[in-house]
Amino acid sequence: MTSRAKRFWRVLPVLGVFIASFQARPAGPASVSLADPSPVSSQPVPAAHAIVLGIAQDGGIPHIGCRQPLCVSARRDPSRRQRVASMGLVDDASGERFLIDATPDLPAQLESLNQGRARIDGRRPVDGILLTHAHIGHYTGLMYLGREALGADHVAVLATPRMAAFLRGNQPWAQLLALGQIDLREVEPGREFQLGRFRVTPLPVPHRDERSDTVGFRVRGPSRTLLYIPDVDKWERWDRNVADEVAAADTALLDGTFENEAEIPGRTLADIPHPLVGETLSLLAAPALRGRVRFIHLNHTNRLLWDGNAARSLQVRGFRVARDGDVFPL
Ligand SMILES: [Zn+2]
Ligand SMILES: [Zn+2]
Repeated sequence: MTSRAKRFWRVLPVLGVFIASFQARPAGPASVSLADPSPVSSQPVPAAHAIVLGIAQDGGIPHIGCRQPLCVSARRDPSRRQRVASMGLVDDASGERFLIDATPDLPAQLESLNQGRARIDGRRPVDGILLTHAHIGHYTGLMYLGREALGADHVAVLATPRMAAFLRGNQPWAQLLALGQIDLREVEPGREFQLGRFRVTPLPVPHRDERSDTVGFRVRGPSRTLLYIPDVDKWERWDRNVADEVAAADTALLDGTFENEAEIPGRTLADIPHPLVGETLSLLAAPALRGRVRFIHLNHTNRLLWDGNAARSLQVRGFRVARDGDVFPL
């Protein structure tokens, strides 16, 4: 090997870290929330981290049929779009990358997840997909793994036994299994399992469980813990105490679907219950929890997406709306 070649191999790992630290934020849509930039994402990116890949409720933003200014402007200007809630888990030490939920925005979210990755297996572009439940924003992105699109090669899909039974028992998901495009791995609600260097616990939560049960995830990395709960009916109906769960985590990404009950005229929140943002604020008001909570899964009607005053008064109380591209060390 020439001395120049030797020098190249010596600097390569350093170069890798350098490049990774500049590629942490995906090329995905910019947030329209007025929350100021995440203090974490401007730091060098730690080897193990979580990255927010979308913050919208299942229907996304712009929302079908919606004529309000946010959705109209997001149709004209793609930078105002918001991808459906999802999170990536990245471990640059092992080279593994995982995805929480398979949303209708899966193709773009996989691109964001794999930015800066040294080697990408074209037909297995992710090391595992964890599913929370069988509502359209959380699993239908699996369709892109089928014959009509990627024709994936045994992508691991991790789901509770009920969610797994739903996929096995219904098309087109059963065909993904029959053709070896996905492999199902059942994970037990409440029981921690190992996922690379991450330890993950599926936490059952009360939700409209028409087709599956619903879980959030607690993810423990080598140094920090993150709580991810995009959908829950009401915190009071949970068999765990949300304040205790947030206290046990460094960061909590929580259901912020609706800000107030007048948001969706003509539909009753009794049919689609979620904790209102204000309810979550009062349950998590303890000073010790300040700065830990970021809201995700915002409905297109939630004014925290466009109302600067509302976003600022949230921040004054120590809460924020998460932004696509936010990075949290694990
Ligand atoms: Zn949802
Ligand atoms: Zn749901």
